[in-house]
Amino acid sequence: MKIIRTKSSLKKFIKDKKIGFVPTMGSLHEGHISLIKKSLKQNPFTLVSIFVNPKQFGHNEDYLTYPRVFEKDKEILSQLNIDAVFYPDVKVMYGHLESPQEILHTYVGYQKLENLYCGQYRPGFFNGIMFVVLKLLNLVKPMRIYLGKKDYQQYYLIKKMVKDIDLDVQVIGLPIVRGSGGLALSSRNQYLSHNEMVVAENIYRLLKRSKFWVASGRVFSSHTLKRKMMSEFKKQKILQIQYIEVVDKKTLLRSEKLKNVVILVAGFVNQVRLIDNIEIN
Ligand code: AMP
Repeated sequence: MKIIRTKSSLKKFIKDKKIGFVPTMGSLHEGHISLIKKSLKQNPFTLVSIFVNPKQFGHNEDYLTYPRVFEKDKEILSQLNIDAVFYPDVKVMYGHLESPQEILHTYVGYQKLENLYCGQYRPGFFNGIMFVVLKLLNLVKPMRIYLGKKDYQQYYLIKKMVKDIDLDVQVIGLPIVRGSGGLALSSRNQYLSHNEMVVAENIYRLLKRSKFWVASGRVFSSHTLKRKMMSEFKKQKILQIQYIEVVDKKTLLRSEKLKNVVILVAGFVNQVRLIDNIEIN
């Protein structure tokens, strides 16, 4: 497995290769691994990037403390037998910019959609993600990019960007990988104590129940569904819900109907922000 740290060696590596690309921020878990395994199956070459992107973290967020465990990640990746890992430092990615604000002049985003749901609580988050993903796509020039549907809004926005500006890459969205108790795997789960983990597992339990309420005709409108879910969440005091939204899978806008939608949930268990979702077809 090649470890690539600069743009020039990346350029040499990608030459004439058909690449499956998995962008990550490292601290790899089974969720990331599911994307990598899919790429290994579908492409002659698989490249994983590990980059904790400062542009997508807000001032009061965990950029500095985000888990960085490259040695461990490297071990996982070489066991998976991927071809290369792109592991640039911030200077390689952003060193040419005079100031962090400069990114704002190269604007990639979708005003309305990026300010909804997670975007409402994390200003600049999706702009930072879209910017770095577009940059990585230009550098890696992959045939396919693999994304997890755990970050549903992110997946939707990247897919939309690729389609809207005709980037020559196929976007593959893969299902959420969960722990044995149902909690969606996330690099931030390691901040949770055992008890908090048990509380956090209720998020998926309630998402499944909501889906059942819809399927069994107990609930007919998204308004009622959200109210019912919120009241259930409120009973569990440690879990602080930030938002529950029912959104149309095609437009990602709020939906009154309960068909072809995704229920998006974000909340805190103490200091740890968690997101999850469930699709209803
Ligand atoms: P991150 O390292 O958190 O930026 O995630 C990198 C990629 O892994 C993104 O496409 C995520 O959606 C995906 N991912 C993270 N957690 C999971 C999970 N539990 N199941 C599936 N994909 C995931």
